[in-house]
Amino acid sequence: MTTSSSLQAQTLLERLGVSTALYTQGTLVARSPVDGAVMGQVVESTAADMQAVIGRAHAAFLQWRVIPAPKRGELVRVFGEVLRAHKADLAALVSLEAGKIASEGLGEVQEMIDICDFAVGLSRQLHGLTIASERPGHRMMEQWMPLGVVGIISAFNFPVAVWAWNAALALVAGDTCVWKPSEKTPLTALATQALFDKAVAAYVAAGHVAPEGLSQVLNGGAAVGEALVTDVRVPLISATGSTRMGRIVGPKVAARFGRCLLELGGNNALIVSDKADLDLAVRAIAFGAWGTAGQRCTTTRRVIAHHSVHDALVERLEKVRVQLKIGHPLQEGTLVGPLVDRLAFDAMQSALAQAKAQGGTVRGGERALATEMPEAYYAAPALVTMPAQTEVVCHETFAPILYVLKYSQLDEAIALQNGVPQGLSSAIFTTDIREAEAFMSAAGSDCGIANVNIGTSGAEIGGAFGGEKETGGGRESGSDAWRQYMRRVTNTVNYSNSLPLAQGVKFDV
Ligand code: NAD
Repeated sequence: MTTSSSLQAQTLLERLGVSTALYTQGTLVARSPVDGAVMGQVVESTAADMQAVIGRAHAAFLQWRVIPAPKRGELVRVFGEVLRAHKADLAALVSLEAGKIASEGLGEVQEMIDICDFAVGLSRQLHGLTIASERPGHRMMEQWMPLGVVGIISAFNFPVAVWAWNAALALVAGDTCVWKPSEKTPLTALATQALFDKAVAAYVAAGHVAPEGLSQVLNGGAAVGEALVTDVRVPLISATGSTRMGRIVGPKVAARFGRCLLELGGNNALIVSDKADLDLAVRAIAFGAWGTAGQRCTTTRRVIAHHSVHDALVERLEKVRVQLKIGHPLQEGTLVGPLVDRLAFDAMQSALAQAKAQGGTVRGGERALATEMPEAYYAAPALVTMPAQTEVVCHETFAPILYVLKYSQLDEAIALQNGVPQGLSSAIFTTDIREAEAFMSAAGSDCGIANVNIGTSGAEIGGAFGGEKETGGGRESGSDAWRQYMRRVTNTVNYSNSLPLAQGVKFDV
């Protein structure tokens, strides 16, 4: 039966230039979390396809690496323009396939545009150092060289932005890309590939050289990802997803001495001090915990509140929680869309049951809109006060569950914040500069992101993004994350008439 999500998706895919054969004749079922409708049957990559795609990417790399970086940047600039022209359609498809509300779908495509702009600037700044040599008549310097084929494995909840964070940097660095998107979001990947192909055509039409296969997509499940992971022609694997996936992928890449950039699960906490501006804190927590239906790696999963503000904060959060509009993500006014599938809903129910058994008081969390959309899984956001940081609180449940804990001394709050296996994002709300600085100090938050008076959720592309411990240690996007997509070469040049050895070593022959 054709329902509204599948009709809408077909119109969007046509407008985005995706060939019908790619999403009507395959075996991978693309289902919308919005209403459970089947939006496409995507062609899955076979083992032979994978070999051919990786081979093509490697051949393209050999040509692309010698094209001057600013010229490579020009392709990324053109791609940014194509994205601007198709922003609304791609964003709507993200909403239908990942369940994000309209503004978040648009925000995701905006992130793609922003990283393109960032990468274009970077294409003229991939510079190394000149280093003082200890030997007379010598010069020492470092250069950053293109690395090779970058394998990008991405998660369902950022179906297009994560690819762009990697691909934009990889392309200006002189690398080529092979993308294995989440099997839950193959349509947005096909649409992104169609837009990228359009950009390449415009770039070539303007007189530039672009080898075939600069960026390609391989659709399918974990087995397709594994083919990338084990292939020695792919020197860098950038994998975004669960810690479970990272535990499998990391050692396999290490076993062949490949490079891994892992962006895995988070369990992000926000400390609310007795000196916090509670108005700001409530807004940050509500968006961070329940926005995107709790399906961001940076979602606020824990609030650690000073005992003197705990009850007032819980009361205010509960007032907000019950008013959040749950519904179709593209409907005006909706703030909370669906969970991605039934498994996600079941995991949420199981976590709430465990929280109760471990002494928690649960508000919300029940299924919503089951009559209107029986094939989809909407859930009321949950607010859970906990007597302690019990086992369930230490796990990432990818759903809108917020656990609230109490503290008395800041040290205790920081210990709780750091006392989980994950280390992605963290925040403190305080107007006290000593508390803020202590939180950001070496003895403070152990996460890759530590914010003051800003929530845990979301990040700007200008900073390096990623986290420690079970989050995987990778950094992508801004700052100097580009270096991971390149290899560093140290060059020493002797322009003297003698051959002095380093450290004064004598070896007279
Ligand atoms: P997932 O781990 O189920 O899947 C992620 C990707 O890995 C998919 O493309 C999947 O096909 C692939 N994969 C799974 N097993 C694999 C294997 N053995 N070999 C190769 N590839 C394999 O994650 P998900 O449910 O799509 O996404 C949610 C998770 O992703 C959450 O844990 C979330 O925190 C995390 N995430 C992290 C970040 C970050 O930047 N740190 C960003 C987004 C999502």
